[in-house]
Amino acid sequence: MLDPFGRRISYLRVSVTDRCDLRCVYCMAEDMTFLPKKEVLSLEELDRLCGTFIGLGVERIRLTGGEPLVRKNVISLFRNLGARIGAGGLKELTVTTNGSQLTKMADDLYSAGVRRINVSLDTLDPQKFAAITRWGKLEPTLDGIFAAKAAGLKVKINAVALKGVNEEEYDRMLAWCGEHGFDLTLIETMPMGDISGDRTDQYLPLSLVRERLAKTWTLTDSGHTTGGPARYYDVAQTGGRLGLITPMTHNFCESCNRVRLTCTGTLYMCLGQDDAADLRAPLRDPDLDDDGLREKILAAIARKPKGHDFIIGRARAPAVARHMSVTGG
Ligand code: SAM
Repeated sequence: MLDPFGRRISYLRVSVTDRCDLRCVYCMAEDMTFLPKKEVLSLEELDRLCGTFIGLGVERIRLTGGEPLVRKNVISLFRNLGARIGAGGLKELTVTTNGSQLTKMADDLYSAGVRRINVSLDTLDPQKFAAITRWGKLEPTLDGIFAAKAAGLKVKINAVALKGVNEEEYDRMLAWCGEHGFDLTLIETMPMGDISGDRTDQYLPLSLVRERLAKTWTLTDSGHTTGGPARYYDVAQTGGRLGLITPMTHNFCESCNRVRLTCTGTLYMCLGQDDAADLRAPLRDPDLDDDGLREKILAAIARKPKGHDFIIGRARAPAVARHMSVTGG
């Protein structure tokens, strides 16, 4: 699948639920209204859609959310998709999770074919964790991370850089990740959805963070790539890697290879734009076969925009009204 700018679309991110067991302050409002069940695609529908994308050239799928691992029986979707790795056309199946369910699910994820996971963890401080997530507890996430490691999963820790909240912690987190063999990726906060607060207060440019970290750590450009938007640095002292995702200070749209599917079957061709294609109606149309579905997908890819234009500023509305939990981070 080639988009109008010649970019090959090989990566699909699927939000399998809009629900989450946490309420991170930069991600969701405190009292969110979640979707009624009938609007959400069944796991079978999600599997069929993913299969269609694989048939069109998608090689990597990441399941996300909301919190993907709180969706009932989601492991069956992992198993079905995992069975397509290799000869089925899929090269990799991954997941982004807050880690809260990993003590129960890490072994099953590995058995399903997952080898690499991203765990979102913005702080190692229990009080800060509770404040950032509005009510979460740090311990289940840490236990989950170590359960994942024990199950054989390669873990990457993702932390959103939040001014005045976790900005003093990156040295400690980098050391902790190095000690346990995890890569660490820092992410700039993006203006997505109303969060009942001002994002200007949270925004921390990673160009600044990198300069600060370079005083303590020897960071050298790494050729490493995971097919995602992070730029990686090797950290000489730990032997690990630091990734920086900088949608605000340096967008990475020219190399964008991905599209995002919501749990209602809406396909967003760009994280930071509103244009979308409804795939649920065609999926549920008894008169439309797989060829018809493929045509709808290709028509959407043909509209993929050149890029996003995120700007954070006082009194500015979010760039897009939907929360990250809708499109899947
Ligand atoms: N619940 C899962 C998790 O916590 O990883 C998956 C979904 S969550 C929306 C995915 C990622 O998006 C998390 O790392 C989260 O920190 C990040 N995220 C959410 N809102 C964001 C925003 N406005 N800017 C940048 N990252 C955001």
